[in-house]
This record gives sequence, structure tokens and C-alpha cells, in this order.
Amino acid sequence: MRFPVPERTTEISFCDSLLILQVRIRNTAETKVFLLRSFFWRKVLIIYTHQEPKSLNGSLKNLAVEELSKQGCNVTTSDLYAMQFEPRATRNDIIGCLHNSEHFDYGVESWEAYKRRCLASDLIEEQRKVQAADLVIFQFPLYWFSMPAIMKGWIDRVLVQGFAHNFPQCYDDGLLKNKLALLSFTTGGDEEMFSKGGVSGNIRYLLWPIQHGIMHFCGFKVLAPQICFAPKYVTEEKRKEMLTSWAQRLKTIWEEKPINCTPELYFK
Ligand code: FAD
Ligand code: ZN
Repeated sequence: MRFPVPERTTEISFCDSLLILQVRIRNTAETKVFLLRSFFWRKVLIIYTHQEPKSLNGSLKNLAVEELSKQGCNVTTSDLYAMQFEPRATRNDIIGCLHNSEHFDYGVESWEAYKRRCLASDLIEEQRKVQAADLVIFQFPLYWFSMPAIMKGWIDRVLVQGFAHNFPQCYDDGLLKNKLALLSFTTGGDEEMFSKGGVSGNIRYLLWPIQHGIMHFCGFKVLAPQICFAPKYVTEEKRKEMLTSWAQRLKTIWEEKPINCTPELYFK
């Protein structure tokens, strides 16, 4: 990728998504360091959960990959069903000796194994992707007021203590605190069902455990959710609108401010 660089630049280096320029001041031997953060180097991880590539979730995921790549972002997708991702948190995740083989405790064992770099390789790979990402998008259909089990399994196994949180390092001090997270999901019920007086109740109630209890707990700054209500039951035109509004939003996604996802937001 080509980009303009000041003439008197003496050194260019990269660190995370920062471009570091060292520039000599005119007619002196003095240099100044500039840190530039650009979306050209931003990294996005999409955790995608749908069995059918032709689904609306598949289209929303493809659109995000296309739009963000067009911006110059580096986009990685974890297609959990295609990867046959293992959702069960078991002792198979710990390679070698257990910390306490008398009484298996997944939380303790995964924490100890993380420190010893003894977690299963699929977890290490997913943690590497999360660590590299500036933004993690979770793309999924709503299952039982929550995410599909395979995505919950990804959360159980990947966001382990030591990597994502380490009490008291949680919420604003969570270990992933320099990252953004966004839930993009589809529903079966329509918007009215998920309104305050609707039969399913305000959709915010079900966002609470995920946005606050998982994302914010791990330190992520949470962006507003992208919700496509009842795509199966709307017209083709409406579905096209859903896709267009997602593409439009992604064009300015880096300018968005995180939402306040404290409990009051959900229950006021
Ligand atoms: P699809 O059926 O794949 O897509 C909808 C339509 O969009 C299709 O006709 C498809 O062809 C079309 N489409 C795809 N791409 C495009 C494109 N580019 N342009 C135009 N059209 C396109 N719902 C709830 O509300 N609450 C629940 O608690 C809940 N629990 C569930 C639990 C389970 C186990 C299951 C299986 C479903 C549950 N649902 C629930 C319903 C589920 O959330 C919806 O069926 C799902 O969100 C619909 O999204 P989809 O991507 O699967 O839609
Ligand atoms: Zn919160």
C-alpha cells in the first residue's frame, strides 16, 4: 500500500495499528516522533455463526468483509460451523498435566494452562485473532433469546481468565479494554414483539448478559447492536434495506462512540 510520507522522515515503524514516523526538524539535527492511527491498519475479527452461506446472516457477514476490506481494514473471519469449532469446555482443552487432577475446575485449569501456554491449539489461534483485532463483530441469528450454542462455546473457551479478564481486571479494566465489540444479529420475532410492551419484552433485556456480562466484563467497549428483525417475514425490498443500512453504518463505524452498557441502560 502506498501512502505519502513527509520528506524529512528518518524512520518508519509499525506497532499494533499505529504508524510511527520519526521526522527531522528543518535545518536541525533534532527529530520528532509522530504516532498516526489510521483505519488502513485497523483489524477486524468477525465471529460468524450460521450453517447456511445463503442465509441473511451469511449476506450480512459477506457485506461486512467487503465493506471493511474496501476501507483498507484487515478482516479475519472465524466461521464457526465451517470450522466445526468445538463448543464444549472440557479437560481436552488442557494439554499436559492438570493443575489439580483430583478435582477438575475448568476456570482454574484454563487460567493455569493459559499462563503455561498449554491450551489447545484451536483456542490459542482464536486468542491470537482476538488479540490482533481492534473490533470484534459477532454475527449470529438469535437462538432462545441468546446466541447459538457454538458461539457461546467460543466465548466459554476463548475468553478465559488471564487472557480476557483477571479479577479485579474486569469491566472498564478488563484485559481487552482497547478493543471494540459489536453484536450484529437477526431475529425470528418482529420489532413490535421486542418492544417494551411487546410479548417478548424490550430487546435490551436480552442484550444485557451479552453486552454487559460478557463483552464489557472482558473490557470491550460496546458499540450499538445491529439488529435485523424478522428477515424471513419481510419483503425482499425490506431485506435489501437491512443490508444497505449495515453497509452504510460500516462506512463510519470508526467514528462511533461506545454505548453506555451499565445495567441502568437495560432496565430503565
Ligand atoms: P434466513 O432465513 O437465512 O434469511 C431470511 C431471508 O433472507 C431468506 O429468504 C434468504 O434467502 C434471504 N436473503 C439472504 N441473503 C439475502 C440478500 N443478500 N438479499 C435479500 N435477501 C436475502 N427468534 C427469536 O426472535 N427469538 C428466539 O428466541 C429464537 N430462538 C431460536 C432458536 C432456534 C434453535 C432457532 C433455530 C431459531 C430461533 N429463532 C428465534 C429464529 C431465528 O432467530 C431466525 O430464524 C433467524 O434469525 C433468521 O435469520 P437467518 O439468517 O437464518 O435468515
Ligand atoms: Zn456494560
